[in-house]
Amino acid sequence: MPSPGRCIYCGDNEGKLTDEHVIPYALGAHTAIFEKASCVACAQTIQKYEQRILRSQLGVFRARIDAPTRNRKDRPTHQDLHFIEVDRDGRQIRDLGNRSFSIDDTPLNLCVWQLAPPRILGEQRTEEEHVGQPWASIAQSVSQKALAMRLAREVAEETGAEHVAIKVDTINRDDFLRFLVKTAHAYAVFEKGLGSFRSLTTDIILNRDDNLAQYIGSSPINPEYESSLSNMTELGLGVVKDGPAAGYTAVYIRLYPMLGTPPHVVVVGEPP
Ligand SMILES: [Zn+2]
Repeated sequence: MPSPGRCIYCGDNEGKLTDEHVIPYALGAHTAIFEKASCVACAQTIQKYEQRILRSQLGVFRARIDAPTRNRKDRPTHQDLHFIEVDRDGRQIRDLGNRSFSIDDTPLNLCVWQLAPPRILGEQRTEEEHVGQPWASIAQSVSQKALAMRLAREVAEETGAEHVAIKVDTINRDDFLRFLVKTAHAYAVFEKGLGSFRSLTTDIILNRDDNLAQYIGSSPINPEYESSLSNMTELGLGVVKDGPAAGYTAVYIRLYPMLGTPPHVVVVGEPP
């Protein structure tokens, strides 16, 4: 897509602009590129949280599914799993330490974040629901749970512990949601053009506002589309039909739908 002539995040048209991957390279390789669409300052702000998500937090998962990477050499080959002894109620009673495994021998787990629909849509939800909770794909998969239990049993035999659990890392909520908001905004501008809506999420994207649940949340609708098992990212664009945000531009976004992940919606802008 040719350059919009200014930064799609802050609107600056003075400084140097760089090419922008609408769908981050680590998810979609070169699927959709916006030429000269981000200023250097915005690119630096965004890169910090985007890399924390894609490289650190989703690094092992992305290596397992052979997702696109620019640094194949840096790709993780081993994963540390943290084992604990627990009582009958699942409370930790002893730390059993880390064990390192080849990533192919560990359970496949993707952790994302699930929360109530965006507050701006006007549904009555509790603050706790807007904060939300981690969502782990391993909890949905019989085969991956069985593999985790086999590893836990081995550690139980080795340590004499009665009940062993594996502690999994949960994703950082704010980094993850901010990353989805940024991707949704870039996609909406890519599809509709910079002047087609007035952005509501600029301060969130540029890390100046933490009120994420105002604009992002679980999608209250599941759009009908031709889904494919090979889809890594699904994006859709629409307009909010009714409620306090009627007429606002919204983006449907779902990462790794083949794992049954919760779909999100981002209310990206109001009419100009
Ligand atoms: Zn900018």
